[in-house]
Amino acid sequence: MNRPLVAILSGAGISTDSGIPDYRGPNGLWRRDPEAEKLVTYEYYMGDPEIRRRSWQMRRKNRTLKAEPNAAHRAVAELERSGVPVRVITQNVDGLHQLAGMPARKVLELHGTAREVVCTACHARGPMEEALARVEAGEEDPPCRECGGILKSATVMFGERLDPQVLAEAVAITKACRLFFAVGTTLQVQPAAGLAGIAADHGARLTIINAEPTPYDEIADEVVREPIGTALPRLLRELSLSPE
Ligand SMILES: [Zn+2]
Repeated sequence: MNRPLVAILSGAGISTDSGIPDYRGPNGLWRRDPEAEKLVTYEYYMGDPEIRRRSWQMRRKNRTLKAEPNAAHRAVAELERSGVPVRVITQNVDGLHQLAGMPARKVLELHGTAREVVCTACHARGPMEEALARVEAGEEDPPCRECGGILKSATVMFGERLDPQVLAEAVAITKACRLFFAVGTTLQVQPAAGLAGIAADHGARLTIINAEPTPYDEIADEVVREPIGTALPRLLRELSLSPE
């Protein structure tokens, strides 16, 4: 039995039920506050120790690391466990798909992860919790332990390029899948927006689940406006039960 590949593209909307607001979307918190946006903009971050100090304080107060997966994240993981081949492409940095039980190798994080730090000089990585513990202990801008370089969150900041390998894998999955779900994303930011178009061009069935209209609603096979927390579990349950 060869079950068709299912691709789930998730954006900020899938995590709002977990208490994580939209930070980086077109109308996200960072975009509406120029001072906050500086804290997550590569050029400012690298050039100004004061920005880094404030950025670490922001990470310290950020609730993302304490958030729990919700019904939508769990439904995706359950679909995978039911034997359906599933890949997640996410714009989120919260790691909640993996916490819900999705194998990490099946989750592509377009914007990186807030759960790790990375050195801007030697690219060594480590847990965010550990770096935040150093901040708690009094280091205002904890340097890399390997080389003394500037540490940052392992997320893609404004002004940074997406990892080309992650992006290439996301495109490959999008081309190969038979079902493509765009969940909680406005589809206004590249490359996520483009993926929905690629999926449709390659013959996938495109389902969009989002509270607000998206530029791709016109070409979608199905547009769902009901809350993600109920819509996605329902749609994915139907999928895992369908005989194919
Ligand atoms: Zn380093």
